[in-house]
Amino acid sequence: MKITSAEFVTSATGLDKCPAGSRPEVALAGRSNVGKSSLLNNLVSRRRLARTSNTPGRTQLINFFSINDMFYLVDLPGYGFAKVPVRVKARWGKMIEDYLARREQLRGLILLVDVRHKPTADDQQMYHWLSTYHIPTLVVATKADKLSRGRAIQNLAMIRKNLQLPASAPLILFSAVTGQGKEEIWAVIQNWVEN
Ligand code: GDP
Repeated sequence: MKITSAEFVTSATGLDKCPAGSRPEVALAGRSNVGKSSLLNNLVSRRRLARTSNTPGRTQLINFFSINDMFYLVDLPGYGFAKVPVRVKARWGKMIEDYLARREQLRGLILLVDVRHKPTADDQQMYHWLSTYHIPTLVVATKADKLSRGRAIQNLAMIRKNLQLPASAPLILFSAVTGQGKEEIWAVIQNWVEN
């Protein structure tokens, strides 16, 4: 997909603050520090559209980016950051689940997991919600450049098994450093927003 424009639009504190209108949306979710901002920046070839940082848990809002004035990429709050109080975690969980359960514009979700690690209970919970709400899902294994090709392929099988992904569910290896996987991800997004 050719990106002609990519702009930050708004940060929403909850479902009722999300933009009105019927534009399709593709959301991104994952643990804090999984590489979500890096993926977003890489997808749209803008170095600092979504701020990348080593401070996990900073993004606590639902961030909307307008792409080609045609659809939104939606950055959901990163989850699983250990130092966050339980009360705050519960609020994030509710915000994310509300969005997944009730946002009609949502066409699909990209779930990010780190290719080096076993998916966590939070990742499993997220995938469970997505199945429950019948949201088309693409799982992306990030930071592929940190492993050898052979090891990365092995870990994909481990991730598929751990999340209980059906054989037909897409799982793509990605690196924000090399750009590996970018075109495949765009193909899935394009299919979601154009159909
Ligand atoms: P977020 O919290 O999910 O938005 O994660 P960030 O995009 O801020 O990335 C967290 C850290 O991982 C940063 O230090 C990034 O530079 C690093 N990182 C993200 N993606 C990649 C990748 O594909 N390869 C490598 N080597 N590092 C990455």
